Amino acid sequence: MKRHTICRLCSSCCPVEVEIEDGRLVSAARKSFLPREKQLICPKLKAAAEITYSPHRLKTPLIRDDRGNFREASWEEALDRVADGFLHCKKTYGARSVCWLRGMAADWGAPWDYANRLMNAFGSPNTIGNGSVCHVGREMAHTLTYGAMTIPQVRKARCILVWGKNDRDTSPNIAEGIIWAKENGAKLIVVDPVKTWLAGQADLWLPIKPAHDGLLAMAMLHEIITTRRYDEKFVQEWTVGFEALKKVAEKFPIEKVAPEVWLQPDQIRRAVELYTAHKPACIVDGNGLDMQITAFDATRAVCLLRALTGNLDREGGDFIPQPVPLRNIQLKERLPQGVEPITRDYPLFNTFHDTWGRQVQSCVIDALLDEKPYPIKMLVVQSGNPLVTLMDAGRVEKAFKKLEFLVTIDPFQNRTGRMAHVVLPASLCFEKTQLNRAHIRNNPLMIQQQVIEPVGESRPDWWIVFELARRL
Ligand code: SF4
Repeated sequence: MKRHTICRLCSSCCPVEVEIEDGRLVSAARKSFLPREKQLICPKLKAAAEITYSPHRLKTPLIRDDRGNFREASWEEALDRVADGFLHCKKTYGARSVCWLRGMAADWGAPWDYANRLMNAFGSPNTIGNGSVCHVGREMAHTLTYGAMTIPQVRKARCILVWGKNDRDTSPNIAEGIIWAKENGAKLIVVDPVKTWLAGQADLWLPIKPAHDGLLAMAMLHEIITTRRYDEKFVQEWTVGFEALKKVAEKFPIEKVAPEVWLQPDQIRRAVELYTAHKPACIVDGNGLDMQITAFDATRAVCLLRALTGNLDREGGDFIPQPVPLRNIQLKERLPQGVEPITRDYPLFNTFHDTWGRQVQSCVIDALLDEKPYPIKMLVVQSGNPLVTLMDAGRVEKAFKKLEFLVTIDPFQNRTGRMAHVVLPASLCFEKTQLNRAHIRNNPLMIQQQVIEPVGESRPDWWIVFELARRL
């Protein structure tokens, strides 16, 4: 039997067709506009059955006993134990001493709302996502420049500029569109320090010095302005601050910037020629722009390329998605007045968007070790492994040892889970129905349909949150 759903083994949210036999997932295939022989293989999806039925899946809740060993437990006992931890901390140290960390594997959208709703109703402002080391800085730059993160229209573009992203390995659905467009005459430019598979297909590969993307974008802006390759009509009708930008860009002539970014001046000139001569053009930007101190400014400079060349919100360019109105269910109004989150020193991340909330997870380590701005006593980690993903694992481990209570929610046991007092087994994407939404404008919205029963006693994250809420 074939069933249709959304794969959420990563954040690309590809529509997939799943083959089910006797209630078991046997294979899954991405839906693609290309004939089968031209489709790109997603190794994670190819391994969907192997991952789903892995012997390493957590199948029951685990509770650490007095001797430090894990024993299997019922959901009743495990959830009661976690709820007791919440209530004990609230009574002894105040609700704010409980913190909820959420990783990428927990899906965007409703699952994020539910954890926030639970914590806000409980009285703690400390529900924290991992956005500061992922795409949120980049999303802020898009949003503060023209309202929302753009969606590149690769299949209709005549030139595609891929900046810090290797879609063959990370988003094969987008890579297929890029390669299809290229085979149909579009030009491809790739900015990446590494010669990725996509860079190998490009008309022009710019092997930039890592973390110097903003400089390159400014040099391109300078060249576009001085050679008058910008879209004058678009700039006049739709932009503000062009004269100010011209002034700033004067500081970044190609000859000066090229050696600083490890490129030849002619390589940058060629990129400008290709990007401005072949319209419409789109830019596919990726995490390569995020993982640096200047992520916000570098991304803004890249965003300005779209606007200056009039490729913004036009077919084949970079489309600005319309907002999908959704009710905010996070119950922020229930938080006690004046309680600051431990991320208080990062107000932009805290307030960027009403439902996105706080995003700087490293604050929990500081709060644990230095007890500033106040101590954290209990931590719930939902679909993440901060002991591995936060910087300085030794420091993170030292911090986690100070916790009175650590709970993890995950389909697999991981290093963080091995330190936990209670481990709750979460279902994988094929085992749960939920609503995913993307970006600040909730567009696109995607329904992920359950196609198989949860493996073992695992349960969807949302079910776990609801059951905790019921107890609290
Ligand atoms: S890229 Fe692969 S793992 Fe990610 S959502 Fe698509 S099919 Fe799933």
